[in-house]
Amino acid sequence: MSATYDYVIVGAGFSGLVLAERLGSIGKRCLVIEKRDHIGGNCYDRKDRHGLFYHVYGPHYFRTYSAQVRAYLSRFTEWNEVRYQVRVFTRGTYWSFPVNLETFRQLKAAPAATEDDFKQYLKDNALDIPSPANAKEAILSVAGRELYDLFYAGYTAKQWGRPPESLDASVTQRIPIRTNADDRYFQEDFQALPSEGYTRMFERLLAASGAELRLETDYRHALPGLTYGHLIYTGPIDEYFDCRWGPLPYRTLRFELDEVPAGPDGFAQPALQINYPGPEPFTRTVEVKHVTGQSSPWTNIVREFPGEYQAGQSEPYYPLPGAESRALAERYRMLAADEPNVTFVGRLAQYRYLNMDQIVAGALHTFEKLQER
Ligand code: FAD
Ligand code: UDP
Repeated sequence: MSATYDYVIVGAGFSGLVLAERLGSIGKRCLVIEKRDHIGGNCYDRKDRHGLFYHVYGPHYFRTYSAQVRAYLSRFTEWNEVRYQVRVFTRGTYWSFPVNLETFRQLKAAPAATEDDFKQYLKDNALDIPSPANAKEAILSVAGRELYDLFYAGYTAKQWGRPPESLDASVTQRIPIRTNADDRYFQEDFQALPSEGYTRMFERLLAASGAELRLETDYRHALPGLTYGHLIYTGPIDEYFDCRWGPLPYRTLRFELDEVPAGPDGFAQPALQINYPGPEPFTRTVEVKHVTGQSSPWTNIVREFPGEYQAGQSEPYYPLPGAESRALAERYRMLAADEPNVTFVGRLAQYRYLNMDQIVAGALHTFEKLQER
């Protein structure tokens, strides 16, 4: 006789595994179904031939303001607190980024320029746009055209394959602009990587959950043979409904791993991440060795090439933050709200551009709601 599960969880990413662990902790029997051949979803990391970590699906920089999220995950991992440092390479120069006083000094070839000088520059250059309506206006309204053209216009168009005017202001507002010399990429008070990698943390979550796992299985094939109480779905929301209102737009990516000898300083590039707003077909290169603390005569670089998503042929990495896609996603969310006995949770199932800590907070909240059922 086949087993009976309290919950079937589709997707062994962050959302699915946190929910499996929480439900397991109250004695629920869970089955996790994952179509890939590994757990961890897009946060999956592994080691290359030289034993050096790399982030298989692009850089994953954990950071959070949430004491609750940090305390919860700390049960499954220790942390290396890190400084995420990014440079932009364009016009033959590595620029300090996100835009800060040092960037201004580079731009004006004025090493002695002060914070007041930069504030005055921003005041003189920022366009008077009281409520920025899109990703372009969001930058023009605080930094002006020169900085927009140098750092944002090319990168944003390449990353999203659309004009920045068609994207939500929140896209470029993710990146701070500072008048002091603070060049940290993020603002959150806790910025750290799991000290043994994300995948080890996910293995511990799964082990604690007691859940059964089926890899390389599409839930659509497995579900008909299963007896279960409730479905938790973390895949793309449009796919769940067979794209009945048409497919939602996503941005896909291709990743290229290069294992290379390290230079005399132990690295191959001058910072953890280099962004390329210019004509290169890739947006960024990441050398995670800068923040893992590993030492080796070798290193690795992952190059990220954005591309247009095609259902069934590529992975849907980024929901597209724009007015049209939001309206379509809302229609799917209405269908989801009426779907009996299914909970939609996570970045793809909610069609929202959410960071890992927001995902964990969301999964913990979903667990509370499931307990109230
Ligand atoms: P996912 O990780 O996407 O997991 C969903 C899982 O469902 C996948 O494993 C998928 O294979 C599986 N699945 C889908 N359909 C099916 C099906 N039909 N049957 C079975 N299984 C299925 N966040 C940060 O906080 N910091 C960062 O620096 C950061 N960088 C990022 C860089 C990139 C390139 C990307 C794409 C995302 C980044 N994120 C970052 C966001 C982070 O990846 C997400 O917040 C997180 O992965 C969401 O977890 P999830 O479980 O909701 O989704
Ligand atoms: N961005 C940019 N230039 C950069 C870095 C980022 O124009 O050098 C814009 C771009 O639109 C990008 C957004 O800011 O999609 C958010 O950047 P982030 O680095 O947070 O991207 P993510 O890590 O989410 O891919």
